[in-house]
Amino acid sequence: SLLLEVKDLTAVIAETKQEILKGVNLVVYEGEVHAIMGKNGSGKSTFAKVLVGHPDYEVTGGSIVFKGSDLLEMEPEERSLAGLFMSFQSPVEIPGVSNIDFLNMAYNARRRKLGLAELGPIEFYAYIFPKLDLVNMKTDFLNRNVNEGFSGGERKRNEILQLAVLGAEMAILDEIDSGLDVDALRDVAKAVNGLLTPNNSVLMITHYLRLLEFIKPSRIHVMEDGKIVKTGDISIAKLLEEEGYKAISTS
Ligand code: ADP
Ligand code: MG
Ligand code: MG
Repeated sequence: SLLLEVKDLTAVIAETKQEILKGVNLVVYEGEVHAIMGKNGSGKSTFAKVLVGHPDYEVTGGSIVFKGSDLLEMEPEERSLAGLFMSFQSPVEIPGVSNIDFLNMAYNARRRKLGLAELGPIEFYAYIFPKLDLVNMKTDFLNRNVNEGFSGGERKRNEILQLAVLGAEMAILDEIDSGLDVDALRDVAKAVNGLLTPNNSVLMITHYLRLLEFIKPSRIHVMEDGKIVKTGDISIAKLLEEEGYKAISTS
């Protein structure tokens, strides 16, 4: 069934009122993978951040319905509890806090909000242990401080681990492939594929066909100047790879 419906969405930068999103339309059903491509500065990250309710932006028009609810009426935290997840493009280092403690806290915060009992360290370990395989991580990774000295690939895999721990009906992955070598990319893609079910969906932002060959999208959209100007199948990504954005530009 219908998961996300975005209609004529416009948004400005809160501080300057500069309009960045100029009428975005997008419909995502359960079980689908959507990809958004587009030149640097076309508004892809802004769109992702507006979906999760980032305070840097103000919605000035249009609507976003997620699982039948008006997303624009919800605080960022409520959106996350409702099942919307976004990977952070540059996750912070947290000195002195181990990765497993951090994930345990994040998971317990969610459980409290949902009225569920918290998991203690031993129960949480049992919960997370099987998920390590999915992201091809060794257990010692859990004892390292959050993001401290993580390689690019480890950071990305940690984001997917977060997604696996928290669960989400819609995961927004913004340039999850940036800075990854082909092996790390394959790992990350395999993990994302492992989390896909008929009931959830992924919205990924990428510049590269490479990622889309590993995580097969149902639809590819091209964003230009704050709007989705073209939607289609993998052939769009192939055209972009061969000829660049001028091949589809409307301006
Ligand atoms: P993309 O992800 O497609 O590269 P962005 O959504 O990051 O594009 O940015 C779209 C445009 O909006 C860019 O010109 C960018 O500089 C500008 N922009 C986005 N967010 C901000 C912000 N918080 N402050 C100032 N300019 C911003
Ligand atoms: Mg960019
Ligand atoms: Mg971006």
